[in-house]
Amino acid sequence: MSLKIPDEVDSIIKKFEQSGFEAFVVGGCVRDIIMGKTPEDWDITTNATPDKIKEIFECTLDTGSKYGTVTVKYKGKYYEATTYRVEDDYINHRFPGRVDFTSSIRYDLKRRDFTVNAIAYNRRRGIIDPFNGAGDIQKKTIMAVGCPDERFSEDALRILRAIRFSAQLDFEIEKYTKEAIKKNGVLIINISKERIQAELSKILVSKNPGKILDLFDLGLFIYIFPDMNDISIESIRDIFKQLKYFNEKAQFRWASFFAVLLCFNRSMGLDTFQKCLSRLKLPGITFRFIMDVLKSVFVEIKYDPYRIRKLVCTIGLNVFKCILEIRYAFLKSGLPVVKDDEKAFLDFACSILLQAENGYFPKSINDLEISGSDLIKDGIKEGREIGSILNHLFEAVVKNPELNEKEKLLSLAKQMKRKG
Ligand code: ATP
Ligand code: MG
Repeated sequence: MSLKIPDEVDSIIKKFEQSGFEAFVVGGCVRDIIMGKTPEDWDITTNATPDKIKEIFECTLDTGSKYGTVTVKYKGKYYEATTYRVEDDYINHRFPGRVDFTSSIRYDLKRRDFTVNAIAYNRRRGIIDPFNGAGDIQKKTIMAVGCPDERFSEDALRILRAIRFSAQLDFEIEKYTKEAIKKNGVLIINISKERIQAELSKILVSKNPGKILDLFDLGLFIYIFPDMNDISIESIRDIFKQLKYFNEKAQFRWASFFAVLLCFNRSMGLDTFQKCLSRLKLPGITFRFIMDVLKSVFVEIKYDPYRIRKLVCTIGLNVFKCILEIRYAFLKSGLPVVKDDEKAFLDFACSILLQAENGYFPKSINDLEISGSDLIKDGIKEGREIGSILNHLFEAVVKNPELNEKEKLLSLAKQMKRKG
């Protein structure tokens, strides 16, 4: 069976072969082409050692030659070429203490995590698939290569990778692989929080973010978030299933994930959440967004346009949007935090959100139809007074958006000046 690989990739493989070596595309890219997707990058595996790879190609970067990886620059693009290797003596269930090069593609495939990721291909030799990864792709199954118990015990990150691939590919985790995850779950405590965060992020932004429920179903949650109460899975199943309808941005997905946790840990206080979040080493902007959402997610919404406009101005449009999404999701799944008439209040808040998006009212002083220089031209002295007048004008316009016209604002400014 032949697979479609780009001509440049085929040329790289041929270059290896002309120098007396073998080379294959391997891992995620082969899985993706079998599934009919276009891979983002092409990884190459070869029996050439890093030194040989550097000799064969004019332009290479030493990305990790100790572990066998050299980046090859070919026709303007970068490819990772890795020498066939076997790994051993895993330290702290995290990384191999020993990496040995091997001359057999089959040994190299054997050290890979899941059958669907352990397929190699080149045009001359076709598909090399000793663990029937292609069959598992057909069956939409994530199955460990070899003994799952050993594989998760060697490297506990694979536990989260299994859930991540099942979310990204919409595959189910095979029964024995799942059991081994449950058995080895505690080993996650050896994995760095950054790597945990990276995998959880990928699950949350995938097409099946609801797979984050596996953290609870497979008993992993308490090892990742030891400060939180263990939550009864049945109470959150419905709400997490709705995550896929949320805005796809990572910050929205993370914020909703934590809002659900907050809902079940209301007594815990935001500072514990803050600690928990900072340990995950999320990008600063995501961290702040989540905290802003958590601070206001349970805010009381009333039929009071001014108060809602004020809230939008204080917390920002995106945070407000995210909060409404979360509250609608809570409503749909009938969580106990939902009050009577919540739907009507949310619909009302949504109408204000639309007004905010259409620019009906200013979200900050910069959106006023007047600026500091207009006030100066009109005879108000430069300095602190300008700032104070602009603040008052802004407040007045949030109360009554109809006032946001230059003439009206100038006359209002004059009145304010007179009043001092
Ligand atoms: P993606 O599309 O997310 O890049 P991928 O399958 O290419 O998916 P990578 O993390 O880029 O995943 O890893 C490339 C390949 O290296 C995998 O397909 C797998 O064969 C192997 N691999 C990566 N991490 C591990 C691991 N922790 N244990 C065993 N094999 C691994
Ligand atoms: Mg990859």
